[in-house]
Amino acid sequence: MFKGMKECFLYKRLANKKVQCQTCSHYCAISPNKRGICGVRENIDGRLYALNYKKVAAINIDPIEKKPFFHFLPGTYSLSIATVGCNFKCWNCQNFDISQMPQTSDRIIGEETAPEQIVKIAQRNKIPSVSYTYTEPTIFLEYAMEVMKIAKKNKIKNAWISNGFMSKETINLISPYLDAANIDLKSFSEQFYQKYCGGHLKPVLNNLIKLKRKGVWIEITTLVIPTLSDSSKNLQKIATFIKKELGPETPWHVTQFCGKISWKLQDIEDTPIEKLKEAYTIGKEAGLKYVYTGNVRGLPTEDTFCPKCRALVIDRTGYIVHRHDKNGKCPKCGQDINLILK
Ligand code: SF4
Repeated sequence: MFKGMKECFLYKRLANKKVQCQTCSHYCAISPNKRGICGVRENIDGRLYALNYKKVAAINIDPIEKKPFFHFLPGTYSLSIATVGCNFKCWNCQNFDISQMPQTSDRIIGEETAPEQIVKIAQRNKIPSVSYTYTEPTIFLEYAMEVMKIAKKNKIKNAWISNGFMSKETINLISPYLDAANIDLKSFSEQFYQKYCGGHLKPVLNNLIKLKRKGVWIEITTLVIPTLSDSSKNLQKIATFIKKELGPETPWHVTQFCGKISWKLQDIEDTPIEKLKEAYTIGKEAGLKYVYTGNVRGLPTEDTFCPKCRALVIDRTGYIVHRHDKNGKCPKCGQDINLILK
């Protein structure tokens, strides 16, 4: 064992001291002294190590709505953590300083933080959940798992904010401890995933179905990027998939892209409000009960309305949340609003 590293949970040993990582759907084959695509897993003498283990690069107390989750513990805060590294290279990434750090500057920074410490911080601040976010939790699986187990024991919920590109082995490992996941469904185009993310679409779709079957609460986010992922056809395909495979109660967040803060798409204009409204309408017409626009404050499309009688049930302005539901039910007609409240 090397200090500050942890032997990876999921990998296979191959001939000539090569290994195959089984943590995400890249399934990297890694030679001795080399790292995988994420830049945080290294083959050292025929064994695979996570170099980012316990190295917390970001920790904040955020509104759960920022993740975004609108139906999971609405109106609460979530202790949010990340290490450096990512298995994708999204051109639109807003956290590229930490997500791409291992590849762009060969640095793996972070403050060594015991998993128990994370849970203690949540308890001390009376925070009901830990979010694994900002970068991709899959690439800090070993650390996340330890935090998740302790959190669960202490009745604190666990939520992943993920690109959904984990392996099936990772899903099997995390699902007993995972309460909710917000998964990006960035586009319905394989080309988009290859060119702008360095990933693939199919594993994400399969994983969404698997997570849903495992009983994890799922919300979906699609960043609507002008000219790249904003066509009506693309949005229709996403909405149809969500309705058919995940169910009409699955919330879909269609969010505004902002070029200025992106890694490599600074020349692309911000998503026009009209386009977000169109995406909202596409979702509703596809039969989704809960569609939300994001990153633009003050639109009524941030609110939750009863899918039966249209009464306002949760009123949101940015992160200011007013709940009018009666224990998860519509205050007017009693309809279930699909909220996870505890
Ligand atoms: S986590 Fe994914 S990207 Fe990183 S080494 Fe493993 S398979 Fe490769």
